Amino acid sequence: MKTMQYLKNVVTLKLNADLCTGCGMCVLVCPHAVFGIANGKARILDIDDCMECGACSNNCRTGAIYVKAGVGCAAGIINGILNGTEPSCDCTKGNKSNCC
Ligand code: SF4
Ligand code: SF4
Repeated sequence: MKTMQYLKNVVTLKLNADLCTGCGMCVLVCPHAVFGIANGKARILDIDDCMECGACSNNCRTGAIYVKAGVGCAAGIINGILNGTEPSCDCTKGNKSNCC
C-alpha cells in the first residue's frame, strides 16, 4: 500500500552510501518504507514518502543518514488549512536561504 505523501521536493533526507554498511536498520525502523537494500547498500525508494520523523538517522550507527527531524510538512499543511492557501511551511520569510 502506498503511504501518504506530503509536500513534494522539500524533504531534507540525505543518504551517504559510502558510509552505509547495509545493516538494514533504516528499512526496519522507517514507518513509511522509504528505504530498501540493494547490492548491500541502503537506497531511498521514494524520498517524498519521508515524513522527517528522524528514526532512520537516530538508528543508523554509521551516520550515513541525515534528516532534519521536526514538524516539517505537517506545519505546511496546517498553515495551508489556516490560511486557505496551498500548503507552505512559510519558513523562508522572504529569504529562500533560511528555508528548511
Ligand atoms: S541504517 Fe545506516 S548503515 Fe544501516 S542500512 Fe541504513 S543507511 Fe546503511
Ligand atoms: S525520517 Fe522517518 S519517515 Fe523519513 S526516511 Fe527516516 S524513518 Fe523514514
